[in-house]
Amino acid sequence: MTSRIFRTILSVVLLVLVLCMGLTTWILYTSFEDNLVTELKSELAYISQGILLGGTDYLSALPASSSRITWVAADGTVLFDSQADASLLENHSGREEIAEALSGYEGESYRYSETLSEKTIYYAKRLSDGTVLRVSGTQASVLSLLWQLLQPLLIVALGAALLSGVLASKLSRRIVAPINNLDLEHPEACESYDELAPLFHKLQHQQKEIQDRITALRHSQNELSAITENMNEGLILLGSDETVISLNASAARVFLADQDKIRGQNLIALNRSEQLSLVAEQALAGKPASSILNMRGRSYALYASPVPEQRAAVLLVLDVTEKQQAEELRREFSANVSHELKTPLTSISGYAEIIRDGLVDPADVPEFAGRIYAEANRLLALIRDIIRLSSLDEGAIGNQKEPVDLLSLCAGVCSRMQETAEKANVTLRVEGSTANLFGVRAILDEMVFNLCDNAIKYNKPGGSVTVSVRPLEDAVLLRVVDTGIGIPPELREKVFERFYRVDKSHSKQTGGTGLGLSIVKHGAAYHKASITVTDGPEGGTCIEIRFPK
Ligand code: ADP
Repeated sequence: MTSRIFRTILSVVLLVLVLCMGLTTWILYTSFEDNLVTELKSELAYISQGILLGGTDYLSALPASSSRITWVAADGTVLFDSQADASLLENHSGREEIAEALSGYEGESYRYSETLSEKTIYYAKRLSDGTVLRVSGTQASVLSLLWQLLQPLLIVALGAALLSGVLASKLSRRIVAPINNLDLEHPEACESYDELAPLFHKLQHQQKEIQDRITALRHSQNELSAITENMNEGLILLGSDETVISLNASAARVFLADQDKIRGQNLIALNRSEQLSLVAEQALAGKPASSILNMRGRSYALYASPVPEQRAAVLLVLDVTEKQQAEELRREFSANVSHELKTPLTSISGYAEIIRDGLVDPADVPEFAGRIYAEANRLLALIRDIIRLSSLDEGAIGNQKEPVDLLSLCAGVCSRMQETAEKANVTLRVEGSTANLFGVRAILDEMVFNLCDNAIKYNKPGGSVTVSVRPLEDAVLLRVVDTGIGIPPELREKVFERFYRVDKSHSKQTGGTGLGLSIVKHGAAYHKASITVTDGPEGGTCIEIRFPK
């Protein structure tokens, strides 16, 4: 802009200069000509008086002057010429001004000499004796005048050009300076040209609009990133060439990637698995796809959806390990339940059938009825345990948590079991001190019951079971120690699995369902308690449950 203003100012100045110079030359030229004509006319007037008095002698005595004086006889013969030998000059009667003067009174004409770039002005006057006096003078032509003036004019032009150059440069910079110094962030604070005020208002309006849009965009971006960053699911946005455009914190955690470094890299840099690249490929081709990715002992469900407008894809990564494990457990459990239910039912049905068919000696009927009764009880116990376990599984526990004194709860359970213990010739006792914990009484009761039941069932005649409760600094410790057959160390984790029994036949004999310890494990998990199984001090088993306060 500065150079444009500079060029415009300079060219205007130069144009004005050239026009001025042309005009000046023309004015000078016309003024010179007017002067010359006046001079010639007055010269002609006084010389004509002199000739009438002194004739040729007067003319010869005239001092040399710039004008040429010619005296011509009435027949056109040249009588005198101030610049040439009159006898050598041709007859002048044909000359325009002479002819005019001869036929009238005065004559005048102009003749140009191209080589000399001169203009000669002739004035002729017929004298009273019939002769004609002619005075002529030369004047430089416009071009020659211009040529003569060229040097000074050029010097003036050069000076003017230089001066106007400097001024134009300063002026253009001064004009542009306020515009260059505009603070576009705050156009309202700009004090420059009044003519720019509407532009500033428009700028200010646009600035506000842009700011509002940026704020709204930032707001929605923050909202979106707050949502995606706090999502448990991994979220990956892929570009058309499988480039990772963005990924949230969960996805970075799953793939052990650095969120900032992985952006802009190919999906391969994130994970090389076939499943991942396959779902990405399909989604980028416009088809939704899903797959399961197993990684570091965990299972992830991948859901890829196309984003056709952006030629991109969104990948959702869900940790389905627990879901899959639960699914597996449920499948196993259903198979086991059917099997476990079938066994006593088959026995019941078998005994009933042979009684019905009269194949049993009437004396043996009570014994068979007893077996049916025992199997039916086993079935009931099994169904009861399954229902308890299912309700624990689904968290559908009706009872609310409440402060429970674990020692008195254990005392209650043991008094209920006293008879069973006596029958098994096992001493059952409770010790320790009062310890309150916040839990569901029914579940805690069930847990203590199952532990004591096992400790009696898998004990030896004459053995003992000690239930102790101790309040610790940050927990309450429940310990059930027996002097029974013990659990081999390698099976101490397995015994908590559903339907697992170390000795199937012994468990059956004692009416076990194989679900007792599973219920204990679930109850402990519900109360966020930890379980440890060790050897008892006198052999047997020691099971400890630590309830955090
Ligand atoms: P069950 O109904 O068969 O007792 P549990 O789930 O209660 O089922 O126990 C699983 C298995 O763990 C039992 O079959 C038994 O073999 C073993 N077990 C449990 N508690 C004890 C214990 N105190 N001493 C020895 N073995 C035990």
